Order: sequence, then structure tokens, then C-alpha cells
Amino acid sequence: MKVLVLNCGSSSVKYQLFDIQDEKVLAKGLLERIGLPGASITHRPHGLDKRVVTTEIPDHKAAIKLVFAALIEQGQGVVREVSEIQAIGHRVAHGGDIFPVSVLIDAKSKEGIRKLIELAPLHNPANLLGIESCEELIPGIRQVAVFDTSFHQTMPEKAFIYGLPYEYYSKYSIRRYGFHGTSHKYVAERAAMMLNRPLSELKIITCHLGNGASIAAIAGGRSVDTSMGFTPLEGLAMGTRCGDIDPAIVTFLMEKEGWTPAETNNTLNKKSGVLGISGVSSDFRDLEQAAESGDQRAQLALDVYVYKVKKYIGAYLMALNGLDALVFTAGLGENSPLIRQAVCEGMDFLQMWVDLKKNLVRGEEVDISTSASRGKILVIPTNEELVIARDTAKLAAEPC
Ligand code: ADP
Repeated sequence: MKVLVLNCGSSSVKYQLFDIQDEKVLAKGLLERIGLPGASITHRPHGLDKRVVTTEIPDHKAAIKLVFAALIEQGQGVVREVSEIQAIGHRVAHGGDIFPVSVLIDAKSKEGIRKLIELAPLHNPANLLGIESCEELIPGIRQVAVFDTSFHQTMPEKAFIYGLPYEYYSKYSIRRYGFHGTSHKYVAERAAMMLNRPLSELKIITCHLGNGASIAAIAGGRSVDTSMGFTPLEGLAMGTRCGDIDPAIVTFLMEKEGWTPAETNNTLNKKSGVLGISGVSSDFRDLEQAAESGDQRAQLALDVYVYKVKKYIGAYLMALNGLDALVFTAGLGENSPLIRQAVCEGMDFLQMWVDLKKNLVRGEEVDISTSASRGKILVIPTNEELVIARDTAKLAAEPC
């Protein structure tokens, strides 16, 4: 079965076409600046050179039309006809507590995704546009929604209820949801394979450290806690997001600076985190370089970042009452020996140590702990698209 995975953002679409039989990626690509001047499509067919075309892309329907055209194009295409694509899987940001698992798209599930726009105003509308564009372009094709939040729906109430009046949970569904679910799920499953032990008996802490970053405590394959909450702003200090702060700071700053709610959101989401602390960059490569050449605020941003990761790991050791594996994934987790080493410093009481030589790895699945380490420290490149493709193939194969 050939499955197309789509990740539709507000001005971008990422895609991967899988042959699910051997889980091979036949082609992947990215469309950027949708609805803006200078839009482009980058198409990477397996085994061939990538091709970048700058063209007008007025909306999501036009974008997805271009994806189909690229997939069948002579010379660069990977299928003969669009009808060879048997199912489409969509990454959907917010499934609230309506969607604890992936679902086939129908009128009811679309209604659910629409209802959740209130909780994810930047992401769910684009996801819906992608779904509806595919319906129009290939009527009758089976589509599946895979939610970033679903994996964390196993969190117990005590982990997801905020210390706010309960009525706001009832009235507005204000609770912790967690994100990056497909990534945490994928790396936890891979960790069990690497350890050659059943996932059902493992206690794992997964650190998804990218531009957006979150940590999850996973017991027996089920998420019991995670650092992101009602929105992806809670938890770690990230590239540009502030993470946990005293909520009183928000009203204090609104009063002092005269900010509107939108301006406040903008500062907390786009101008904070390591960018805000350092004043240098949100990219850790720049920060590491600046710190190395003596920039003290860049060093401070790295220190704050690492300390927050350590604090969450500490909290989750208590939530799990033990640890079999600590997993690093996503841009930074997969590629930064410096951050991994700093996070793992001072874990002697757990009898877990990083092997400095093995830790030099970038972007590969490797056990970087020393042989004396009681719990394992693993680097596992994430693969959210593969999880989406698998769920899509499974649900699309079910009888109507
Ligand atoms: P997202 O998907 O949230 O946008 P990614 O998972 O792609 O983020 O991670 C991007 C981040 O990973 C970059 O901002 C950068 O800070 C970090 N990163 C990538 N490669 C390296 C590297 N070689 N060394 C240090 N950091 C890196």
C-alpha cells in the first residue's frame, strides 16, 4: 500500500510518500510560503537529485495539487498515477480529549477537529484545509488524522489538572494535553527494541529537544506525564518559547508594557526561550559557537536550558519510580553531544554515565551509555511521519 503523509502548517506543507510494505520513503518534500510571494516546492524523489521550483502557490489546495503533480511527473515522479496512492495520513496538532487515538476522516471527525480550533488556532485550521483539499482533489480517498496529543491521553487526572478553579476545566477544557506524541511514542518503541526488552515492562524518559521541546515519562509504553500542557508553550525553555514561568509575570508585563493579549502571546512564543535570554539566536549551533567564543549570555541561555531539562528528568524519576532508559531525540537531542553531556552530568546517584566517545554520534540510533551504566542513555532519531504512515495504513485497511 502507498501512503502519503501530509503535515500542513499555516504557510507550509511537508509530505512523504511511503510504500508501507517495506516502509520505504519513495519521495518527500516541502512547500513553503503558501499564499505569499516567493513560494516554492522542494521535491526529493528517492535516489534522485532534489528539485526546487519557485512558483505561485495561492492556497493549500494549490499546494497539494503540486504535491500530486510532483509525485507523478515524468523523470522525477515515483508513481504512475495519483490513484496508486491508497490513503493519506494527516498530522493534526490538537485532538483534545476527543481523540485518544488516530481516526479515519469522516464528517464526525472533521467536526471534532473543527471544534478544537479554539485550542489550536494556529494549527488545526491548516490541518483541516489539508484534509478538505485532498477530499476535493481525490474524492473518496481514505484519509486518517493522527494527533500530536493522542499519546498523552493516558496521563492520569492528577497529572493533567491545573491548580485552577475546576469550572474552567469543565467550561473551557483547560487542562494539560501534551504534544509531540507521535515522536515520544516512536522513540519509546525503538528504545524497547534497542534494549531487547518488552516495552510493557520499561520505565523510559524521552527528551524531544528540537526548536519546540518536550519531555515525557513513559511507563509500560503509556505516557504518564509530559512537560507541554494546554498549549506547546508550557515546560522547557525552548528556542523562542518561554516554557514554565510564574503566571503572575504575564499580567505584570501586560500592565507595565501595555501589551495586548496578542502582543503578550507573541513575546512568550516568539521572543523568549534561549533567543530571549541570549539575544543571539534560537539555534543551538549559533549559541554553542557564541558561548565558546566567550558570550556570557549565550552560555547562560545554554545553562538555563540544560538545568530545566535536568529538573524535568528529576521530576519524572519520581513519577516513574525508576528508570530503564533516558532517550534523546529531535534536532538537538540527535545532534548535540554538548547538550546531551551537560544534561547527563551529575547522574552518578542513578549509576548512569555517558560514554564520551560514543556521545560524539549525530543523527544515528546509538546507546551512548558506558557499559557500567545501570540505566541506558540512548540517541534515537525520531520518525513521526512513519508513525503516521503506519496508523494510516492500519485504519485505511479496515472494512468500511
Ligand atoms: P522543530 O522540528 O521543532 O523545528 P528540530 O527538531 O528540527 O526542530 O530541531 C531544530 C533545532 O535543532 C535547531 O534549532 C538547532 O538548535 C538544533 N540542532 C540541529 N542540528 C544541531 C547541531 N548539529 N548541533 C546543535 N544543535 C543542532
